[in-house]
Amino acid sequence: MSYVQVMIEHEVLSLNRPFTYFCSFPIQKGCRIRVPFSHRILMGLVIEVSETKPETSYEILDAIEAVDEHPLLNGELFDLASELSKDSVSSLMSVFKTMLPAAYKPASKAGGEVFETWLIKDPIPEDELQRLKLTKKQKEIYEALPLEIIRSKARKEFSASIIKTLEAKGLLRLESKLKTYQLVHQKKLKQPPELTESQRMALFAIEHGDHRPFLLHGVTGSGKTEIFFRLAQKALEQKKSVLLLVPEISLTPMMIERVCSRFDVPVLVFHSRLTKAEMASEYQKALLMDYGIVIGTRKAVFTPFKNLGLIIMDEEHDSSYKQDNTPKYHTRDAAIFRANYWHCPLILASATPSLDSYARAARGIYQLVEMERRISNTVSAIHLIDMKSERNIGGISVPLIQQIQKRLERKEKTILLLNRRGFIPVMKCASCQEVLLCEDCGIPLSYHKKEQALVCHVCGRHYPVPEVCPNCHKRNWSVVGLGTERLEENVRDLFPQAKIVRMDADSTRTKNAHEILLNDFEADGDILIGTQMVAKGLDFEKVTLVGVLQADAALVRADYRAAETTYQMLEQASGRAGRGRYPGEVYIQSYNPEHYVMQSIVHHNYLAFFKREMNYRHLGTYPPYIYMASLVFIHEDPTLAYSMADQWVKTLREQGVNVFGPLELSMRQKKSRIRILIKDKSIENLRNTCWQVAKKHHEKSRQVKLEINVNPMMLEE
Ligand code: ADP
Ligand code: ZN
Repeated sequence: MSYVQVMIEHEVLSLNRPFTYFCSFPIQKGCRIRVPFSHRILMGLVIEVSETKPETSYEILDAIEAVDEHPLLNGELFDLASELSKDSVSSLMSVFKTMLPAAYKPASKAGGEVFETWLIKDPIPEDELQRLKLTKKQKEIYEALPLEIIRSKARKEFSASIIKTLEAKGLLRLESKLKTYQLVHQKKLKQPPELTESQRMALFAIEHGDHRPFLLHGVTGSGKTEIFFRLAQKALEQKKSVLLLVPEISLTPMMIERVCSRFDVPVLVFHSRLTKAEMASEYQKALLMDYGIVIGTRKAVFTPFKNLGLIIMDEEHDSSYKQDNTPKYHTRDAAIFRANYWHCPLILASATPSLDSYARAARGIYQLVEMERRISNTVSAIHLIDMKSERNIGGISVPLIQQIQKRLERKEKTILLLNRRGFIPVMKCASCQEVLLCEDCGIPLSYHKKEQALVCHVCGRHYPVPEVCPNCHKRNWSVVGLGTERLEENVRDLFPQAKIVRMDADSTRTKNAHEILLNDFEADGDILIGTQMVAKGLDFEKVTLVGVLQADAALVRADYRAAETTYQMLEQASGRAGRGRYPGEVYIQSYNPEHYVMQSIVHHNYLAFFKREMNYRHLGTYPPYIYMASLVFIHEDPTLAYSMADQWVKTLREQGVNVFGPLELSMRQKKSRIRILIKDKSIENLRNTCWQVAKKHHEKSRQVKLEINVNPMMLEE
């Protein structure tokens, strides 16, 4: 008998409030429970169990039943949840929902695990067995059966009818167990390579460091992965687990392959393409795992561990580490929390550290470890192509075309990066200049040739291509811009004999698409065309040429991080060339070759970029010099959302808060979005202001939705 505090998900519940129930059955903190709530039965998560009756303003009802026998979340994960909730100004329930696999969400819609029936052979005294009078054959099979076996397997491998009889006689007990999946396969183990001088020095620095996080700044191809593995080896020898985070699902196959051909230990995988059942299976394995390696994207940072010995966050600068939806947390913050909890090293690694992290390293908050040389000791030559003066065919400059031709002749590989998917980014009427817009978002639609559709790249909505212009009724569509699909056609026209592989959000929708496309390219592909996803982490020996088209397209974004993200993308893309024995060349097509981003890239000079960019952030009072939060008010009625935002601007300004706006953003799903920005030198003050707004707003208005983003990686558009 006990009293439990339960978090419930329900549309009218205010932020972060648990409810008390009386529990006549045993239950532990971290288990799900079914409880009555305003004439419904809902599922909730137990966050507290106590013997004594707490004070409540309402009558305490009886809980109905326990859903889990064992807790899904332990004390560490509870503490992490409460920290992330506080820091990201979002409800505790939203954090629990993000943390737990979909199948275990403490909400009424949860489910999706797959169960299997097992046969269990409990020990039975000999005389009892005698009494059952088994035939010779029955006895033989009974004895041959393992102590535990999946029922369907037993029926197939032995005799189905005899198994049935044994069940009927009570010799085999039935048990329903979660189905487990084998997501990774052990590879033939490879010997570790001899470390290079620069790897030895980096490893030494990490092994002799203190408790602060490490920022491992190593140029692309400097052999950071080998450093991870040496550190992992040590942790595993101490029977501790290793958490290895990658920003994108496209990077998981390569990392899994590398890990499985190096370590003969349990390896678990977490990413968003797993089915609910697979995710549940991996989670259950993690709960039981003594030590091993967990590889995964953002979500993997919530894996339960019995003993964590090392956290690695590869490509730490990547904005995928920040979740777009509420709770808008950053994986790095969760990783820092966990490393503190377990007193284990945390390695933030990148060839292009985020400005935030590098600035922290400069201030001694992180320990900086640098690796300046590539394993191959080659440096890719970077060529800037000034597109204002250079001739091009289908968007590809003549010098780049010549280089591709050379690679085809030498049987080497080329990667072409264009950060826009689709065929024609926008469809425009040449007669009246009308541009077709998404009805829900108000932004221009992209033409996707294969699907014969117009697609909104914000919300994903598909539209048929109209015969004539809805404005002037003429049929005079014109082609504006270049997308990956169109580029693929142009390249095919230029090099009909080449094998081309295209990788973008459209070609990678299906489950193992990344792996299949990359294997294709590695096997016999000549040219890989893709969006920024091809810039990241790929390691192909034969790639000796990288071409970046429209390199400055991202620079014109109205975002204070535009230069940083462009720099990172270009440097990462350049890093794909010349990783093996052959030196690489990079061709960057730009309309703005004098820009400091382009110049830092040409000279392989991160520090020069860092200094220029920090100067700009200082002048504009942007992070990392200050902290920032964005608050977006969302409603169908633009005047309502606007007036709400406007009131807050006035109120906050009276309190002396540094607030900007309101600014009208593009619509999403037919809803207006009005943003205000808050800046503060103190992160605590900033969070307090956000919580104040969140709580008051919630009391005043449930109609207007409020989305809060503390430390946004990108400002909404
Ligand atoms: P990074 O992650 O820093 O971009 P990688 O870890 O992918 O670089 O290493 C680049 C390449 O060098 C890989 O193919 C890797 O197998 C190889 N490599 C790493 N360390 C060594 C070493 N000590 N000796 C030989 N080859 C190495
Ligand atoms: Zn849209």
